[in-house]
Amino acid sequence: MSAKILDGKALAARLQTEMAEQVQTWIPQVGRPPGLAVLRVGEDPASAAYVRGKERACERVGMASFGQHFSAEAPPSQLLDTILRLNQDERVDGILVQLPLPPGWDPIPPLLAIEPDKDVDGLHPMNLGRLLRGEPGLQSCTPLGVMRLLQTEGIPLSGKQAVVVGRSILVGKPLSLMLLAADATVTLAHSRTPDLADVTRRADIVVMAVGKPNLLSADMVKPGAVVIDVGINRTLTPDGSSQLVGDVCYEEVKEVAAAITPVPGGVGPMTVTMLLHNTLESYRLRNRRGNGC
Ligand code: NDP
Repeated sequence: MSAKILDGKALAARLQTEMAEQVQTWIPQVGRPPGLAVLRVGEDPASAAYVRGKERACERVGMASFGQHFSAEAPPSQLLDTILRLNQDERVDGILVQLPLPPGWDPIPPLLAIEPDKDVDGLHPMNLGRLLRGEPGLQSCTPLGVMRLLQTEGIPLSGKQAVVVGRSILVGKPLSLMLLAADATVTLAHSRTPDLADVTRRADIVVMAVGKPNLLSADMVKPGAVVIDVGINRTLTPDGSSQLVGDVCYEEVKEVAAAITPVPGGVGPMTVTMLLHNTLESYRLRNRRGNGC
């Protein structure tokens, strides 16, 4: 039997509709909409497309956008000064620096400059520390989106074997901590894991976050497992047109798995939605006193 398709696009649309309704209720109480500042440096076309997507989503749910674009030749102090100003700006609830930065730009100083309670990407050490300790805080959007999808679909995690392939600070590491907090037994695999198939075949839940097309084939998946594909890869079809694929051999794995996310339309839309969710959380916490939102 073919796997259940975990439709991140549909869930994202539903969550965004709910958020838009909440925003309309809260604006009269707070006196302003939630505000998000996405900061972009340089001319990388993929980054530009991601930022456009984030700003459009922001508009859709009624949030205000305070985004800025810097030339790759600008002094890094310009980005830092802007972050410090946005930290103080009462209209701004979330600040995010689009990664990767151009060659020669160190991402650490801007990440450290963001006020942790406005760090909607969840990458400030304070928020990573809160995640490690199991305390509330802003959490990284892609792993949060994966967790939300699993929880909404009612996929049990407690006591299950979860394998996350990929150990980046953006996806793999925070996701493994979130799965651990949900009482899964977690294995974090990476490029030095000797026999990846042996590891993934033991998993009830496999998350691929690598960036290599077709890395996970059907023979690497336990029948009935849940497969989450975070990977985004641009490849060429036989007729020469470009297409987006994940890290999973989708067509064959969906015949073995119990549930699977497609690419596109799986984790990607959930990532943007969790960015909006984090901005709204920050707005709510900031305005909690006195106006009941
Ligand atoms: P990174 O390049 O930072 O990390 C990739 C990880 O994969 C590393 O830990 C690396 O191991 C591991 N890896 C590489 N080759 C292998 C292999 N052959 N076997 C096992 N592990 C391997 O990538 P990101 O975490 O930033 O992103 C991963 C993927 O997810 C990319 O395709 C990216 O585009 C996508 N992505 C999708 C998002 C979405 O919203 N859907 C959001 C963010 C990212 P090692 O540490 O040993 O080098």
